[in-house]
Amino acid sequence: MLGAQRRRVVVKMGANWIRKANFAYYWAGPETIDMYAKVKYLGIHGLGHLVDEDAYTKAYQEEGLRRMMASGVNALFFTYSWGWPPRAEADGRRVARNFIKLCKKNNVRTLAYMQLSNYVWKAFHDEIPESKNWECTDKEGNPVPYMGVHRGRRYLCVNNDGWRSYLKGLMKEALKAGSDGVFFDNMVRPDHPGADCWCQVCRNRIRERLVSKGFNLSEEAILRRSLSYQDPVGREIYRLRVDSITDHIRALSAYARSVRADVVVTSNWALVDNFSWWGEEPKEIASLEDMILMESFTLARVRRGCIVNTVRAYKRAKCLAKGKRHVAVSYPVFAAEAPVYSAPTPVQLKLGIAEAAACVSSLVLPATERFTDKYTILTADEFEAQRTAAREYYSFVDANWDLYEGHESICNLGVFEPGYMKWASSQIYPYALGVEQTLIQSQIPFDIIDELDGNLEPYRALVLPNILLLSQVHCDKLKDYVERGGSLVLVGHPGIYTESYEYRGDYGVKEILGISYPHGTEIWAERKEARVVFLPSIDAKTSACDISCVEDGVLLPRGYQLLKNAVLWALHGTASVELGNLPHPYVFVEITGAEEKRAVVHLLNYKYFETLKNIKLTVRPGFDVQKASLVSPELGEQNLILKSVNEGVQTVIPELRIYDIVVLE
Ligand SMILES: [Zn+2]
Repeated sequence: MLGAQRRRVVVKMGANWIRKANFAYYWAGPETIDMYAKVKYLGIHGLGHLVDEDAYTKAYQEEGLRRMMASGVNALFFTYSWGWPPRAEADGRRVARNFIKLCKKNNVRTLAYMQLSNYVWKAFHDEIPESKNWECTDKEGNPVPYMGVHRGRRYLCVNNDGWRSYLKGLMKEALKAGSDGVFFDNMVRPDHPGADCWCQVCRNRIRERLVSKGFNLSEEAILRRSLSYQDPVGREIYRLRVDSITDHIRALSAYARSVRADVVVTSNWALVDNFSWWGEEPKEIASLEDMILMESFTLARVRRGCIVNTVRAYKRAKCLAKGKRHVAVSYPVFAAEAPVYSAPTPVQLKLGIAEAAACVSSLVLPATERFTDKYTILTADEFEAQRTAAREYYSFVDANWDLYEGHESICNLGVFEPGYMKWASSQIYPYALGVEQTLIQSQIPFDIIDELDGNLEPYRALVLPNILLLSQVHCDKLKDYVERGGSLVLVGHPGIYTESYEYRGDYGVKEILGISYPHGTEIWAERKEARVVFLPSIDAKTSACDISCVEDGVLLPRGYQLLKNAVLWALHGTASVELGNLPHPYVFVEITGAEEKRAVVHLLNYKYFETLKNIKLTVRPGFDVQKASLVSPELGEQNLILKSVNEGVQTVIPELRIYDIVVLE
């Protein structure tokens, strides 16, 4: 039966240390001071005065490193090259190389930041005149400013050999100095201005590609085409951009591995643009990396009636990583240009570390923070409180490492978000966020999946959050899934378009539902063992806000209660985990397991100032449970009393302050 069996979990790793590393993002040192000091030169105003230069300098010295290590941090992202030309950043890179050596001496791993796609053009032109030829150009032959607005920074063409060679030289320098990895920032996605290059190299490639696909168009005709996915020419240009970016990352990562075989390669998969990235293209890039890094700008807390969390980011990254060689890592805040950001409180750090641990991922601690009127680090009094909190939780995870090692989510619910949904992302985005937030705040564990292949067995039900686009292959697979007893919760207008965004004229899942488009009323239907729910709307449009915003989380859709009921009904009332006697919904629950007969239930209380008592926990892990124990940084260890219930076991958790783990064996 679907959903009844535990998955075999196989976790392979790149470099072994990544999975267990406690990361911090060290946005400090001379390169960062320069970045701020010269902001006017870059065309941004009003940040230079915020930097505490003394603290930033000490950060790269013994004193700074010792204070970071005292938090339990043992791996640092640090700025190696930020996009200044060689002479301008020579001193900064020398300091950075000394810092690498200092870290090495202290067994702290390092990941060197590389500016992947843009540079400080004026300084570069002065030092390396031919760098003019590395730049992206628009259709009129003009340079392309970073993010479309930064006057001082310009995009470089990912197909340009000169720029690529330059980057290789930088990586070699950092790796020879002993850096354990490289981190590419500003990875451009295919529909980004930085990928929209019409330099001569790119023009030739586009023309050749179109000819090879049978499109014989004049240069003028090509220039007039838009990037629309519905246009076969535009789609081909888009795919060529995907290939170009992939080739760039492939060439650079292969080079890095030729310099140092065990190098860790990672790029910034900014969550801010997550849905645009969430296309068909990222998988191959992801497969070239050892780690998926998501820059999420989200700090765990309860705010305005919702949980602000990084759970979604971890689950998406897990989907990209495919549970194989990558470890998903979130990257909360480096505070560079986010004036609304303030330092996380000690409890937020604890919640953040526990969230990451529960999702079998890593949190990258922010290490440059705006405690007062300046971005500072290490010297602020508040840092001591943070240091203690981080150390306490890192020590807890380390001491209980066997509850995390090799574990992955073993829940029985999947949220299906195919890659091609990105073409209607503005319409799907609020629904996907609304569905995910509903599940988080309803304590229903879930995975995000983007394929319907051999990965469906663990799931008793799938939710489709207004997935307007569905390929025929996926429609057929969903039908087959229902015939095999799998349940569906379909929200909105599933599959009224094909994966190429062509209007289908009816629901792609019409046969499963037995209705025609448009259908305005709910359906709750039984199909032998399967249950199918159709909800025309959960009214998510007005409530979901951008999770990139530091101060806001995602509010529940108005129809969240209906959605929750539908999911539970589809699961035949048997979610992997059920919690009873909860006075508020601000609890996150996750269930993980490894190959042996053990399930680990993680509970986080985001409303930590209200201690929860006597939580009733029901779990259906799919094996005979003999023993239950509670492990918690706040409460220590104790045995729990077990009771058998339908398909599982029940126990009572005496207390939840911030983070509890229940181990079932
Ligand atoms: Zn180009």
